[in-house]
Amino acid sequence: MLNQRQIIKDLLQSTAFDTEVHVKGWVQTTRMNPYIAFIALNDGSTINHLQIVADISIFGQEFIDKIKNTGTCIAVTGKLVESQGAGQRVEVQATQIELYGESDPVSYKLQAKRHSMEFMREIAHLRPRTRTFGAILRIRHTLAYAVHKYFNDNGFFYLHTPIITGSDAEGAGEMFRVTTLDPVNPPLTEDGQVDYKQDFFGKPTNLTVSGQLEGELGAMALSKIYTFGPTFRAENSNTTRHLAEFWMIEPEVAFNDLEDNMNLAEDFVKYVIGYAMEHCGDDLAFLENRLIEEEKNKKQEERSPMLLLEKLRFVLDNPFERLTYTEAVDILVKSKPAQKGQFKYPVSWGIDLQSEHERYLVEKHFKKPVILTNYPKDIKAFYMRQDDDGKTVRAMDVLFPGIGEIIGGSQREERYEKLHTRIKELHIPEESLWWYMETRQYGTAPHAGFGLGFERLVLFVTGMTNIRDVIPFPRTPQNAEF
Ligand code: ATP
Ligand code: MN
Repeated sequence: MLNQRQIIKDLLQSTAFDTEVHVKGWVQTTRMNPYIAFIALNDGSTINHLQIVADISIFGQEFIDKIKNTGTCIAVTGKLVESQGAGQRVEVQATQIELYGESDPVSYKLQAKRHSMEFMREIAHLRPRTRTFGAILRIRHTLAYAVHKYFNDNGFFYLHTPIITGSDAEGAGEMFRVTTLDPVNPPLTEDGQVDYKQDFFGKPTNLTVSGQLEGELGAMALSKIYTFGPTFRAENSNTTRHLAEFWMIEPEVAFNDLEDNMNLAEDFVKYVIGYAMEHCGDDLAFLENRLIEEEKNKKQEERSPMLLLEKLRFVLDNPFERLTYTEAVDILVKSKPAQKGQFKYPVSWGIDLQSEHERYLVEKHFKKPVILTNYPKDIKAFYMRQDDDGKTVRAMDVLFPGIGEIIGGSQREERYEKLHTRIKELHIPEESLWWYMETRQYGTAPHAGFGLGFERLVLFVTGMTNIRDVIPFPRTPQNAEF
C-alpha cells in the first residue's frame, strides 16, 4: 500500500481533501507540544515541505522521538486536510508511519541550521538534502532540459563527441592522461621512452577539453549540431570559476558567420534563462531571499545593485552590447581604474583580458552583458577565422556580470591554405589533425560555433558565487572526494 507514493510537490497543490495519501521523504524539522508532533517532510520534488501532523497518543512518545530528528527517512499514510496553521495550505494527518532510516541527532553532520558553504563542500554527500542545494540541483536540471529543448526546437542534432581523445592539439589547456599502463613499471622503447604502442589505444590519449573539433565534423554533414558533455582541464587554477571537470555546451553551425554566431549565443542564453525563470519560480525566490539575508551582513558598497530575479529579467530585456576587442581596450585604457593604476594587470592592445577587465566593462562601463569580437590572433586558438588585417581573428567572448567569460566562440577558418599556414606557424603536429584538415579539402564551408560552460550558466542563474556549489560533486585540484 505504501508503494503508491505521492509527490510532495503535487500534494501541496492538491485539493483532494479527506482522501488517503501516501508520502515518503526526509524529516527536515519537528515542532512538538505534549500532544502533537508537527513534522516538516521533504522528498526533493520541491523546495517546500509538507507538514505531517502526528498525534503522540496514537504513535507513542518513544516512536515519535525516533522519527522526529532531522535527516530521518519515513513513509507516511494519512489524510490530506486543509491546514489550520499559518504557513501552509494543506497538511497530512498521519494514521500510519513507517520508519525507514533513523538519523542520530548527535552525529548527523547536517543540522537544521545554516551551515557555511565551505563546510557543506566537505559534506557533499549530504548537502543535496539542504534547501539551498535542492534548489540549485533542480534549477541545474531545468537548465539542462532547456538546453536540449532549445536546440531540438531549432533543428539542431545532439552529437555525442568522444570523451577520450587522441589529439593533443585542441589547445585549451592542460589535459588528463588516459592510460592502462602500469605507472610504476611502464614498458619502455629501446631509447628509454614510455612505449605507448603497448598502451590500450596504441598511442597516448587524454580526456577531452572540448568537443569542438569533432563537432565541426558533424556540422559539415548535419548543418546544425550541438554537443553537451563533460570536459576536463588539468589547469591548476584555484578560482571560483574553474573546475577540473565541467560540462560544456557547444553548438556548431554550417553557413553561420560571426554575426549569426552572436545572434545564436544571445538568443540561446536568453531562452534558457527565461525557461528557468518560468519553471523554477519557488527555487529562485528561495535563493533570492537567501541572498538578501547574506547581503545584510555586507557593507553598502559591496551589496549587489540588483536582486537575483531583477538581474535575470534585466539580461532578458536588454540587447547585449557588441564591440570589438580593440574598442574595448580603448575604453579600458581610458578608464578610471587604468588611469589610477588600480588594475592588477595593466591593459594594452594584445593582452589577454583578465577577469578584472572583463568585469569592469560589464559591471561598470556598460552595465549589461557584453560580446567582444575580433581578438588578436596571438591570444586565440589556431582554428579561428583570420581577419583581413592579418592581426585579428573572428573570435567572440560573451561576458556576464559577476562571472566574466561565460561563452567563448568564433567563426572557424574554413580556408585550407590559411589554416595550414597557421598550424605550421604554431608548430602544431599536423599529422594528429589530418581528419580535421580533410573537412577543408572536401566540401569546406563557412561555419561558426561556441562553447558555453554549463556551470558558469548555473552560477549566474542561481546567484551563487563559487562554481563548486553548482555541481553535485566538484572536481578541483587536490579534491576528488565523493
Ligand atoms: P577562462 O579564460 O575563463 O579560463 P577559457 O578561455 O579557457 O576560459 P574556453 O576554452 O573558451 O574557456 O571554453 C569555453 C567556455 O567553457 C568558457 O567560456 C567557460 O564558460 C567554460 N570554461 C572554461 N574553462 C572552464 C573551467 N575550468 N571550469 C568551468 N568552466 C570553464
Ligand atoms: Mn575562451
